[in-house]
Amino acid sequence: MGDSTSPLSTYQAKRDFGETPEPAGAVEPSGGALRFVVQEHHATALHWDLRLERGGVLVSWALPKGVPPDPRTNHLAVHTEDHPMQYLDFQGSIPAGNYGAGTMSVWDTGTYEPEKWGDREVIVVLHGERVDGRYVLFQTRGNQWMIHRMDPPADPDRQVWPGWTAFPPMTAATGSSLPVDGYGVEFAWGGQRVLTFVSGGRLQLHPVQLHPVDDPPAAEGGELVGRFRELRALGEALGVTEVVLDGEIIVLGEGGQPSRPRLSERLGARSDTTSRRLSERYPATLMVSDLLWLDGHPTMALPYEQRRRLLSGLSLSGPAWQVPTSYPGSDGPALLAAAGQQGLPGVVAKRLDSPYRPQDDASAWIFVPA
Ligand code: MN
Repeated sequence: MGDSTSPLSTYQAKRDFGETPEPAGAVEPSGGALRFVVQEHHATALHWDLRLERGGVLVSWALPKGVPPDPRTNHLAVHTEDHPMQYLDFQGSIPAGNYGAGTMSVWDTGTYEPEKWGDREVIVVLHGERVDGRYVLFQTRGNQWMIHRMDPPADPDRQVWPGWTAFPPMTAATGSSLPVDGYGVEFAWGGQRVLTFVSGGRLQLHPVQLHPVDDPPAAEGGELVGRFRELRALGEALGVTEVVLDGEIIVLGEGGQPSRPRLSERLGARSDTTSRRLSERYPATLMVSDLLWLDGHPTMALPYEQRRRLLSGLSLSGPAWQVPTSYPGSDGPALLAAAGQQGLPGVVAKRLDSPYRPQDDASAWIFVPA
């Protein structure tokens, strides 16, 4: 790592300290307990930087998906240049054009015990606010390392993401009248329904095809993220929070109502260039209505009301995503009239005590056309 003049020469050579707010720093051995920091770094690609105090500097790895909470899932750790001790509490914005441009915040910090420190394997016990446990970092090739949690998960009930098949979409029955008591009512947007999975700041989309005849041809899940690239920022906003969301992608037309033709154009984009151009011309919004998974736990068995409360707790509101209001059932008639005026397909009444179930329970979700 670096040359022999100073452990920090690589760090300092990469940066212009007249431009970046980062500390130039100096090698500074400290007494007392060894410290560590994990910084969340919204650079070109979101990652987390793990830095361990050793010999007066911070030995550093960049973790694209963060510190693994579970011993069953190892994460990549890219060994990077040693950082100065003054970086332990660095937070701020590195201006565009500089190395590591983007915002950096302290995600966790604390002390640690080194159990083993070899050239290719490091074992540490971290004592932070968010991360507490024994971890091994081991080199696989060059600067590529892996980080593995050696302790059981901090949350003993945490489950590994089971894949899309564990989330069969719940559907609404069509009705002609709105129930009131015990229901919440929301707009139906007439968009492309999708399930969204976010883990380690990365977003995946899974199209839900309920009416293949009416719907435009949905792209494969992997292609969908490329076509709706503005939604990637939702993954970055969620950081390490792992979720599965149910919702609809909409694209607004000139009158401010969801436009089916524009949505179809975006869904059908054949090239990366077209996707990029259309995302600027006809930006999309993900209208999130339900939460099916949260941090290693399925939430589908919970009543709708409770799932909505958990969803609210995530405070999802951003340039390309929002959680539209669920209104009390008594507002149903007014909402239905508004849907008609705004050219929306209708409203959906959802029973507040209903779990998220794929099989038809005609009274759980009722779609009433405008
Ligand atoms: Mn970084």
